[in-house]
Amino acid sequence: MVVSVKDDPFVQTRKGMVEQQLKAEGITDPLVLTAMEQIPRHLFIPEPWRYESYDNCAVPIGEGQTISQPFMVAVMTQALNLRGGEKILEIGTGSGYQAAILGWLAKEVYTVERIEPLVERARIVLHTLGFDNVHVRLGDGTLGLPEEAPFDRILITAGAPAIPPALMEQLAWGGILVAPIGDHWMQELTIVAKEEGGLRVKRGVACVFVPLMGQGGWRPGPPTGQEGP
Ligand code: SAH
Repeated sequence: MVVSVKDDPFVQTRKGMVEQQLKAEGITDPLVLTAMEQIPRHLFIPEPWRYESYDNCAVPIGEGQTISQPFMVAVMTQALNLRGGEKILEIGTGSGYQAAILGWLAKEVYTVERIEPLVERARIVLHTLGFDNVHVRLGDGTLGLPEEAPFDRILITAGAPAIPPALMEQLAWGGILVAPIGDHWMQELTIVAKEEGGLRVKRGVACVFVPLMGQGGWRPGPPTGQEGP
């Protein structure tokens, strides 16, 4: 049984988050709204910042990383247009919250994180809540997971200079990839549909994510403008 939290003190707060931060701001997919009302976001956020769990902003999760603002999670999830049977790859597990939302809405989720303590914490929370269909892997997500490909949907939850070519290859035909693409300071949510006739690219809201590091992302050190594939 996925998600059964006894004495959850945040039930009303979460309803408020869904009404004010999601519905009022244009999120319409009823499945996305239900998932975000059900999943206890605060359990994915370490103690020192837990009281900020339902605020309308990104929140620290340790290791210099952040969990995205609820609205951004909803926008990205809605853009994936999930129907329930999909196999998904997420790059940037972070707290594991977005992976849990995907696990609630799809069949199977693989999520890759490069920082080991975050991998360990996300695994524990996801296991405790019963998300047996969410698999957390340690590694450089810009290379994808060739052994599990193809994926029906791919979501990058860190800011990328460009879409890593390995991920485009591992996206199934008819699949959708969603990623924040831009520079270190500002990105645009980019939605790519991989169709027989070619790629269909739509650009969405402006956003600010922590950088996607790695072989197909940014390299360590100050940005030079030459990064990316
Ligand atoms: N989806 C997360 C938030 C993402 S924050 C959540 O729901 O909490 C972005 C995460 O991407 C960070 O944890 C960061 O360590 C990770 N990351 C950055 N580059 C990566 C890479 N190449 N491979 C895997 N993870 C990466």
